[in-house]
Amino acid sequence: MRSSRLRRGLLRAAALGLWLLAVPAHALTIFACEPEWAALARVLAPQATIHVATHAGQDPHHIEARPALIAQLRRADLAVCTGAALEAGWLPALQQRAANPKARDVFFAADHVELIDPQPGAIGTPWSGDVHAEGNPHVHADPRNLLLVSQALAERLAAERPAERAAIRARLAAFEARWREHLARWEQQAAPLRGKKIAAQHTTFGYLWRWLGIEQIADLEPRPGMPPTPGHLQRLRDSLRAQPPAAIVLAGYQDPRSGRWLAQQLGGAVPLLVLPATVEENAGEAELVKWFDGLLRELLSATAR
Ligand SMILES: [Zn+2]
Repeated sequence: MRSSRLRRGLLRAAALGLWLLAVPAHALTIFACEPEWAALARVLAPQATIHVATHAGQDPHHIEARPALIAQLRRADLAVCTGAALEAGWLPALQQRAANPKARDVFFAADHVELIDPQPGAIGTPWSGDVHAEGNPHVHADPRNLLLVSQALAERLAAERPAERAAIRARLAAFEARWREHLARWEQQAAPLRGKKIAAQHTTFGYLWRWLGIEQIADLEPRPGMPPTPGHLQRLRDSLRAQPPAAIVLAGYQDPRSGRWLAQQLGGAVPLLVLPATVEENAGEAELVKWFDGLLRELLSATAR
């Protein structure tokens, strides 16, 4: 009696083992908070199913925790986000409602690079995601950061799918080699931008300025994370008249009215540049390259005077 039960149990265990061997590990499902991380994930894990929470036309500091996003996070094996509190206003709510244990340990890109401009003592709430007390979270605007993040992301993906470790590492190595070539080309092309002074709204491109040696001499925001006010814009106009910037730069998702007003007030001599803050939702490596190509082209043509 006992031995037949044991035999049945052993048979069942053997059958389960065979079944587990026969079913391949399902492809990863990734929830990316921003399109740039989705693009990097596509480079390293091309078979993954990737959902992207925000697009280039959206302000990534403030989005709504829509039911569709909750459902996507619920099904995800891994969440890949920026961190440094960029998503503090919406990601915790999504995580809570998705109730997915795998989405709790988020891969945060900002943990793997050096953050610039921390604002110690800056007063923010969990909903004022654009104050950035920990430092500027818009790390993807420096292509050197994408190398660092891709290395860390490859390790995380390999930990999720140990059987694919070698393939992921090979894709990383190939990406790194190509990316370093682009870096060398971009740095050569961008040499004329070194030392240029620009005005911009928010710190969206802070890492781009640092990489290229551009100086942001004015911020249309009176304080980090605070929308432009008439009083602040008037003071900027008065100070910038004496030393006009080479351009006024806005991100594509920002309301262009303040930038337009300031450009007009400076007599039309200062170009207003509206740059996309990131790539499209379905982007991969080629689009990341095109994004940096486009940023450099726009900056070079606007400041070539
Ligand atoms: Zn920001």
